[in-house]
Amino acid sequence: MLANNLVELDRAHLIHPVASWRGHEAAGARILTSGKGAWLKDAEGRDLLDGFAGLWCVNAGYGQQSIVDAATKQLTELPYATGYFGISSEAPVRLASRLAQAAPGDLDHVFFTLGGSDAVDSTVRFTRYYWHARGKTTKEHFISLDQGYHGASTVGAGLTALPVFHAGFGVPFSWQHKIGSYDTYRNPAGSDPEAIIAASKAQLMAKVEELGGPEHVAAFYCEPIQGSGGVLVPPPGWLKAIRALCRELDILFILDEVITGFGRTGPMLLCAEEDVVPDMVTTAKGLTSGYVPMGAVFMSDRIYQTIADGAGMGTVGHGLTYSAHPVSAAVGLAALDLYEGGLFENGRKMGARLQAGLRGLSDHPLVGDVRGRGMLAAVELVTDKEKKTPLPASAKPAVRVFDRAWNEGLILRAFAWGVLGYAPPLCCTEDEIDLIVERTRKVLDLTLEDPDVRAALR
Ligand code: PLP
Repeated sequence: MLANNLVELDRAHLIHPVASWRGHEAAGARILTSGKGAWLKDAEGRDLLDGFAGLWCVNAGYGQQSIVDAATKQLTELPYATGYFGISSEAPVRLASRLAQAAPGDLDHVFFTLGGSDAVDSTVRFTRYYWHARGKTTKEHFISLDQGYHGASTVGAGLTALPVFHAGFGVPFSWQHKIGSYDTYRNPAGSDPEAIIAASKAQLMAKVEELGGPEHVAAFYCEPIQGSGGVLVPPPGWLKAIRALCRELDILFILDEVITGFGRTGPMLLCAEEDVVPDMVTTAKGLTSGYVPMGAVFMSDRIYQTIADGAGMGTVGHGLTYSAHPVSAAVGLAALDLYEGGLFENGRKMGARLQAGLRGLSDHPLVGDVRGRGMLAAVELVTDKEKKTPLPASAKPAVRVFDRAWNEGLILRAFAWGVLGYAPPLCCTEDEIDLIVERTRKVLDLTLEDPDVRAALR
């Protein structure tokens, strides 16, 4: 009764992110009621294994009492403190310093946001300010990757390269440009790592030339693994090579680790394991394990000092009311304690098991590719492995496969083009990882029985 009422109210009043509004009205919402560890319960009493950690964010898992206690304590003592007017409070100071200490190289400075989109937005503003501070005001073009996702703010959506974020929204802007993805499964340059790296370098150099040379290009953006593009993993050495090229070209290299940060692939930041130090790194999601909103921009000392010198005693006019929110920071500290106290370690072990388990599905007639790193993975479905033919459009994987998995008690991400995405909480046990794989196989077997899929297989 209560759930039905909520579904009606949801339909009437709640606008959902990245949704077919009419489709949602027709389908109605699924109502979640509680969570513990890697498990969620819905209003119908169904237990669901969350193979996607909410929206690849609940890295610590649900119901972590230490996080709840930290938030409660902070809410009781000091629920808000502005960072404006030279004011500070303990939790954000401690979190910034812990993050800076754990980050690689000279990523010594942290600007807190409310999530990933405004973290990306902030880096665009900082980048422009940086070049202006250096007197290089013609450096105004930004380059990112096809299939990339950098949030849904007006500026970030233009760096994003997924068509649904552009159509009808008037983006990308004329200063936002794309080059091909590093995708190793469907790359026109083939699957050889060196060829893909060479192709990306050539494309970046060509794009910079096309834009009038490095004196007109401000920055290059990428994710170290393209999440919303379908969990695309670059070949080994790609990140390092492109970082080096950006340095050579004197354009900023900004890495979007909103998904990959905080243990998703092992370390706090993936770039640390690749021996890469970007000029800025954007993070969010796992920073607070999704319990409360928060994002963070890690800024290198070089960028920080240039901006600070550029402004002198003047004001750097960028800020948000909730930047460095003490409750979010207290949650971030508690999450970091859990990560460093064993969850990073457990995530590494479970990540290896997840990758091995999903790779074991490669023999299934519908599985064209299995890829990922740590607790971030994807299974790409095809009807012809040789030709890499996607599932027929009629199969509507985003709905049909998602619903099927849900009914089997598994939450995964089902991308519209037939890719299944995984990002389980780092607290998963071996049995839970095995169950994710087992239930996926069941979903694949059921999908194989669909008449349209069967017909396409022939
Ligand atoms: N950047 C990346 C790589 C993301 O995956 C996301 C969200 O999924 C964002 C930015 C935007 O973050 P948010 O949704 O917190 O604004």
